[in-house]
Amino acid sequence: MKLKLATAALAIGASFMGFGAMAETIGIAMPTKSSARWISDGNSMVEQFKAAGYDTDLQYAEDDIPNQLAQIENMITKGVDVLVIAAIDGTTLSNALENAAAADIRVVAYDRLIRDSGNVDYYATFDNFKVGVLQATSLVDGLKARFPDVKPWNVELFGGSPDDNNAYFFYDGAMSVLQPLIDDGSIVIGSGQTGMDKVGTLRWDGAVAQSRMDNLLSANYTDKQVQGVLSPYDGLSIGILSSLKGVGYGSGDLAMPIVTGQDAEVPSVKSILAEEQYSTIFKDTRELARVTVGMVDALLKGSEPEINDTETYDNGVKVVPSYLLEPVTVDASNWESVLIDLGYYTADQVK
Ligand code: BGC
Repeated sequence: MKLKLATAALAIGASFMGFGAMAETIGIAMPTKSSARWISDGNSMVEQFKAAGYDTDLQYAEDDIPNQLAQIENMITKGVDVLVIAAIDGTTLSNALENAAAADIRVVAYDRLIRDSGNVDYYATFDNFKVGVLQATSLVDGLKARFPDVKPWNVELFGGSPDDNNAYFFYDGAMSVLQPLIDDGSIVIGSGQTGMDKVGTLRWDGAVAQSRMDNLLSANYTDKQVQGVLSPYDGLSIGILSSLKGVGYGSGDLAMPIVTGQDAEVPSVKSILAEEQYSTIFKDTRELARVTVGMVDALLKGSEPEINDTETYDNGVKVVPSYLLEPVTVDASNWESVLIDLGYYTADQVK
């Protein structure tokens, strides 16, 4: 903690840090516990910051923007040394981050870019465009494998939350693969709905995706079948699959469409093993935590954080120096070697 002085330093063990010095505190603001990936992110960071000698203040905001803002303001008031933030709405933090800057608190954007603020020091994330490329590549591979004789393939598109900068990168990455196939007639978007303004899913809400899929099916697929659904996140895929199963896909002569995903969450890995969801994208949250802890440690020690991208993430005010990790496609062919062998899950967890 900033400016904390003497008394506690008399406690046993404080002499290791020198008189008056206490562990610095890292404020960690996470979006929600409703998705397991953010719980893993939070746990990994707490563990790794602790191992590096830092205290942490970890808060989840249950996808409520004012709640997250209050948590961040509170961390600033309490005098954390660095803020690590995975924003719910990446455009709502400018004022809060001005207060952070005024209090000399550095800020690392975690996984999601914080937009419209010059007070974002670094960004730790995955190659988000590549996530979309991998999703669409897997979709096309699945279409070729499951529906070799169907021409054109009927596909529907889902996007992530329009207030999450990542959602545009996922969508653009996916469309870099799909658009040429739409242009040459191999794929038809049955509903005609394309573009993030039409296919976005506010707050990444699975129930919203499920009801949109219900509507797409009843409006466009009473006399034809859908073969593929681009889904950017496992929580949406689960809703989409429920909708598809609800009208009989996956049984009789209605083959289950190819449905993608992201995050390798346990229910979706189980769904892949049950041959429902086709694939997901694994992003090792332990690695993202490791990169973030390294960045924060460098910031506090006055050295240069490791970055590998200085061009991609323009937040509207500045290009935020970033470290991008590699996403990996997971499907029925490789789930064991990726998820189990790397120790992300035990085999029992996903069976
Ligand atoms: C993350 C994804 C996640 C999504 C929904 C995105 O910002 O990058 O990993 O699936 O949010 O939580």
